[in-house]
Amino acid sequence: MAAVTFMMNFSTLMPVLLGVTLTRFVVMGHYVLHRKVYPGFRTFVLAEFCALLSMSFIFLRSSMGEALLLMLLTGLGSFAQQIIAYHGLGVYCRLPRLWARTRQNMLLAAVAGLALSADYIFSPDIMRRVMIYSAVSLVICLRVGLEIPLLGRRVMAGVTLLCATFLLGAALHGARGWSMLGAVGYDYSADPILTYLLLFRTLQSVLEFYVVFSMNSQLLEVDLRAATAQVAHMAQTDSLTGVLNRRGLQVLGAEALRKSLSQGRPASVIMLDLDHFKRVNDTLGHVAGDELLRDVAALCQGSLRGEDVFARYGGEEFVVVVPFSDVREARQLAERMRQAVETTIFPVMQGQFVTASFGVASVRKGNLQALLRCADEALYAAKRAGRNRVVLALGPDEAAQAGEAAPA
Ligand code: GH3
Ligand code: MG
Ligand code: MG
Repeated sequence: MAAVTFMMNFSTLMPVLLGVTLTRFVVMGHYVLHRKVYPGFRTFVLAEFCALLSMSFIFLRSSMGEALLLMLLTGLGSFAQQIIAYHGLGVYCRLPRLWARTRQNMLLAAVAGLALSADYIFSPDIMRRVMIYSAVSLVICLRVGLEIPLLGRRVMAGVTLLCATFLLGAALHGARGWSMLGAVGYDYSADPILTYLLLFRTLQSVLEFYVVFSMNSQLLEVDLRAATAQVAHMAQTDSLTGVLNRRGLQVLGAEALRKSLSQGRPASVIMLDLDHFKRVNDTLGHVAGDELLRDVAALCQGSLRGEDVFARYGGEEFVVVVPFSDVREARQLAERMRQAVETTIFPVMQGQFVTASFGVASVRKGNLQALLRCADEALYAAKRAGRNRVVLALGPDEAAQAGEAAPA
């Protein structure tokens, strides 16, 4: 019991808090120098620095008495730590409006600094100074406890808990200021609420330490996930036209086909290839050829439904996987695309028209590879038959039914 009483006083808790703060400062500072950190992290290191300064001044004060400058620096250092914690949490939680609110806290601390000095110079009363300090700390702690969760709504894990501890801190500061009303004489080492505040701040420091590191790793994870998603997207996207590439077709096209067939519905594939594209490159240049490929891709994609999968299959060859569509519907779609290409005036073509040939294949069961092979054969037949046409990969009976002659 005696040991507990010994532990629970100002002169023993103060060095413990100093030790915790120094450890936090060294570890976090080291981390900043060697690891990736987000802006709020650096702010917290600065807060640790302010806390260290503030505590050093407290030790100096106890040995040199209450000189105005030392007293001011102690108070302002402590306010700065709370203000920076408020700002750091806000930066971490990505609350851009926070800076204006941080300025209000700074103004409050500056006014309190003036009030403390005036008190010291004109009519010194240590209880009044404790009240001023407690009132300002109460306001800033309340703001951290309430505004960060309210402004951010969905703040990162751990932040809400930390903010709740700031509310507790606000209550302790409030109680300390209240207890000074009407009191006579003040002794730091005999103030029980100050003792609780130091103990509480030591425990809160440890929690804060954990939360700051966990927020940093959460943000790292978020960035990593975004980068991975971007790489995955790039791996499936054609860099020239921005549509899916062959790899993307294998994934999304196969998925669309599977969905369609699993519901007992037919699915189709349209394969198209620009006619005499080599001439475009030869006469207008490769840059113009690229421009035409981009325009054709945009034109074709613009004529599709949301569930259709459009991809660049190779050089000037494109593929559409058309789920939930039989050969008649796919043929109509291909015909619309053919007419769109034929009638569009592409600026890069300098007045020349462009045409494309289309092969269409349809199945009720099978896989994408087989369907692509059939569509490719039909496309080849369209080329042989004179280009700028749609050919179906069907037996003669079905072709007649769809209103189109099957390839020879
Ligand atoms: P056909 O009517 O028989 O399809 O004739 P074509 O000239 O279009 O046929 P071919 O498939 O032989 O030629 C395709 C050309 O497309 C050859 C290649 O140089 C060109 N090409 C392939 N990829 C690109 C590209 O990314 N940009 C440009 N500008 N040209 C490309
Ligand atoms: Mg071609
Ligand atoms: Mg080709």
